[in-house]
Amino acid sequence: MNGFDGKIDRLRELLSGAPRNIAIVSHTNPDGDAVGSSIALARVLRGLGHRTGCLVPNRYPYFLEWMEGIADVVVYKENGDAAEKIVSEADLIFCMDFNRIDRLEALSEAITANETAKRILIDHHLDPPKDFDLDFSDPGSCSTSYVTYRIIENIAGLNAIDKAAAEGLYVGIMTDTGNFSFSSLTPDLFRAVAVLVDRGVNVPEVNAAVYNSYVEGRVRLLGYVLMNKMKLIHDGTAAYISLKENELRRFDFQVGDSEGFVNYPLTIIGVKMSAMFLQTRRFIRISLRSRGGVDVSEFAAKYFDGGGHKNAAGGKSFESMEKTVKKYEKAVEEFLREEKDR
Ligand code: 5GP
Ligand code: MN
Repeated sequence: MNGFDGKIDRLRELLSGAPRNIAIVSHTNPDGDAVGSSIALARVLRGLGHRTGCLVPNRYPYFLEWMEGIADVVVYKENGDAAEKIVSEADLIFCMDFNRIDRLEALSEAITANETAKRILIDHHLDPPKDFDLDFSDPGSCSTSYVTYRIIENIAGLNAIDKAAAEGLYVGIMTDTGNFSFSSLTPDLFRAVAVLVDRGVNVPEVNAAVYNSYVEGRVRLLGYVLMNKMKLIHDGTAAYISLKENELRRFDFQVGDSEGFVNYPLTIIGVKMSAMFLQTRRFIRISLRSRGGVDVSEFAAKYFDGGGHKNAAGGKSFESMEKTVKKYEKAVEEFLREEKDR
């Protein structure tokens, strides 16, 4: 399995013998890939006889709530004791869709407190992983769910994927590829998707459950954003959207409502990079997207203490919205100028 061969043997060893207590953890602001890959892996590992618990630092978006098994995903922010118990009792901790323990924010401490558990990473982000005993990190893969699919194929066989696990993997692949429209769409990926459909995924149903299931406020907020809040800068080659708490309240904002907004400016001819600044209680969450050669993971790391993928990245700012936007405008000037000179 593409360079993972020795690692698969090591994973098999870790899973052999007595049933293990396994914690499956994914990142803050969990998305379809984080939750979908976790649910699928948990089901397969349970099928192999292990005890599993899934956890996330904060709540997943409401449009994923239909997924089978999601009710068993423990949200650390809402149920700290249950989450800590899963982590402290774990022999193995699978870390899904991130590559640095500190991306777990408040949950990081509980993870590092368990010094005996082996940590296994399954991920597709660019930055080299650290803090793990075994890593399945494939930046060439469209999603963590696809990396998980290949691991499952090797350790349990494709028959171990039931309908709910297939839906989890499909949701991860669908959401991380922007509904099969970004890069890393290989023939092998479509062959894997064919298997998932074979295992029971109903493509139009899943599509509608995730993309046509928004609350009214989200759709109206999108209208407001596109009309009033989307700004083009740098001769129309870059864009940004900023949203403050009072604006979010006006539209009864719920976690996940702004998912995908950052992609809209990129549909305009000439726009090469786009940012969204979302005010949260403690800091401004930054989402970045780009087209072609513009590397926003580099941009995020250089200016906003973040990272991610070449065309989709994120970061944070602890300054005011005004200062953050100014910093972005200056950074774009510098970054796109340097990019042009390359
Ligand atoms: P999103 O904009 O969807 O929240 O994030 C886009 C991508 O950037 C995701 O792959 C996510 O993991 C990554 N990302 C978002 N925020 C951060 C951050 O603060 N640090 C790092 N290293 N990556 C981030
Ligand atoms: Mn992902």
